[in-house]
Amino acid sequence: MEKNPGHFKQLFSAFLILLFVLSGSAEPAGNPKPKDPVAINWEDLQQEAVDLLVQYLRIDTTNPPGNEIKAAGFFAEICKREGIEHRVFEPFPGRGILWARIKGDGSRRPVILLNHTDVVPHSPDYWTVDAFGGLIKDGFIYGRGAIDMKSLGMAQFVTMLALKRSKALLKRDVIFLATADEEAGGRVGAGWFAENHAELLGNAEYLFNEGGSNQVDSNGRVLSIGVGPSEKTPAWLRLTATGLAGHASIPNPASSVNRLIRALNKLLDYSPPVRITPVVEQSFKAMAKTLPPDQAPFFENIRESLKNPDFLRKLESDPALKAVTRNTISITILEGSNKINIIPPVASAEIDTRLVPGEKLGDWINELKNVIRDEGIKIDTILAFEANASPVETDLVAAVKRVSNKRYPGAVITYPVLAGFTDSHYFRKLGVNCYGFSPFVAGQRDLGGGFHGNDEKIGKQPYMDGVRYFFEIVDNMVR
Ligand SMILES: [Zn+2]
Repeated sequence: MEKNPGHFKQLFSAFLILLFVLSGSAEPAGNPKPKDPVAINWEDLQQEAVDLLVQYLRIDTTNPPGNEIKAAGFFAEICKREGIEHRVFEPFPGRGILWARIKGDGSRRPVILLNHTDVVPHSPDYWTVDAFGGLIKDGFIYGRGAIDMKSLGMAQFVTMLALKRSKALLKRDVIFLATADEEAGGRVGAGWFAENHAELLGNAEYLFNEGGSNQVDSNGRVLSIGVGPSEKTPAWLRLTATGLAGHASIPNPASSVNRLIRALNKLLDYSPPVRITPVVEQSFKAMAKTLPPDQAPFFENIRESLKNPDFLRKLESDPALKAVTRNTISITILEGSNKINIIPPVASAEIDTRLVPGEKLGDWINELKNVIRDEGIKIDTILAFEANASPVETDLVAAVKRVSNKRYPGAVITYPVLAGFTDSHYFRKLGVNCYGFSPFVAGQRDLGGGFHGNDEKIGKQPYMDGVRYFFEIVDNMVR
């Protein structure tokens, strides 16, 4: 499309005419030349993208229970209309997954556009608009999922529509995968699909997912575009203490509850050491390029800088930066007796710990055991993944750079490590290089917000711009 400058096209047709004159014959019959891609009317397509997002936001896919089959059906209907190859899966009642594909010529490996269709619950009392109304007001599109992540899912889908309608010849298959259950760990969504239908991923090389972040200053200047190669990994643990049960009128210092509280106290007082693994180091190095000259050198050489306690304190006053420099511990669930005058035989706590990418679960559990120092406390793993990362010297990152350099000259490409986690780990495990990337680029005020909160909304303009930006990157990779 617009990637091919007009004069190149003219040269090309001049060359064809010359060929025609030289050979004195028409093109060989039965072997038609590839059609020129059909030009995309972006104004129309961006408006269509807004309409489609509004319809998508009106589908209630609150997880639990999810009901993502409705979202899968919504995408399937459009695929059918557009003639896009697709399949719907319902691994568990009501939990739907849509897979769609536009075939390439197979000369390069496929790229996957991954998104989840479920959204987190909302509290209607704190919303000023209907969370599933699809309202557009004052330049914002409102609805649960407007940020996380129906907008990005729709931007990915519009890329499918544009590729299909343009009839362009692709080097790679482009696979759109809209999954269930991400907000609850993805086991009946992306996890199920990766385990049961890896053959439909065609040995994919790349995957785009949520989890990107961009930086725009207050004057609207784009400082950085983030391509996230890694994320912290959850290690959700259950601590169980046992002891003699009894009547609360006779206190027992070694009771299950008392032992558990002592253990948790030690964890509260414990500050896991700073751990700068290679992916984290790479993320700070890239970030340094966005900083003023008096700060940049500190981030450029983060290992050395962190030996300086003043710098460490300053860095860690930002909770987000602190979270990527250490493993973290949050105590979230407590369970003891269900009656005030009974000392229970068992007490337990669930703790949400997160590991810096590159850390090993076994080492971490041993570290916690050393902190607790009580053989009577059992530690079980509720949920944990391998903390994996994707390289940044890849065609995907190069495509993001090429397109972004034109769109946002001067913006630096950064490689942030996400403090939360997404479904990417299921696919990294299969050997796919996965990246968190958001095509929505705007200052805080214009971008919207309400991620997992109230009045979730996305700016209409950044959304429309992002739809096109995302297409340009994928187009750049596959043609
Ligand atoms: Zn999400």
